Amino acid sequence: MGFCLFNNIAIAAEHLIKKHGKKRIAIIDYDVHHGNGTQASFYDRDDILFCSIHRYPFFPGTGGSHEKGAGAGTDYTVNAPLPGYNNNDDYKKAFDDIIVKAVDDYKPEFILVSAGYDAHERDPLGGMSLTKKGFKYMNEQLFQLAKSHSSGKILFVLEGGYDMKGLQEGVESVFEVIT
Ligand SMILES: [Zn+2]
Repeated sequence: MGFCLFNNIAIAAEHLIKKHGKKRIAIIDYDVHHGNGTQASFYDRDDILFCSIHRYPFFPGTGGSHEKGAGAGTDYTVNAPLPGYNNNDDYKKAFDDIIVKAVDDYKPEFILVSAGYDAHERDPLGGMSLTKKGFKYMNEQLFQLAKSHSSGKILFVLEGGYDMKGLQEGVESVFEVIT
């Protein structure tokens, strides 16, 4: 759905498991839209923890906090739905309380990030109020989690973002915290 032909992050996660023998991959998706395709790909599995923070209710309609996985995958899907126009502080609270906690408990061997910047306040589609500072905060936590659990192994994949300046600031927010 959306504007995607292939789900790069899901392919990468599956590759890490099948070709590199990884047993615990965490995917964190902070694109403003729920990562419905990634969630559906791994909904009944415990070798991939999928965490998404997004606007809800919103396109594509999924991503309520009651969606937690199924079967062996129960509790390995973690959704942090936020109402529209939430700002840096709102994101910080939800990210710390829900996403960071889940990843810390899971102790992933590799972290993949669906890095979309359509939650930026300038974005014409997202309807959120994040600035570069808010993205940078989330990235700092993700790099810290990678240091703590995955020997620094973390991969960011660029996803949404429909304002050029917002997209630029989002990408900068990753490079500015690479250490
Ligand atoms: Zn998006």
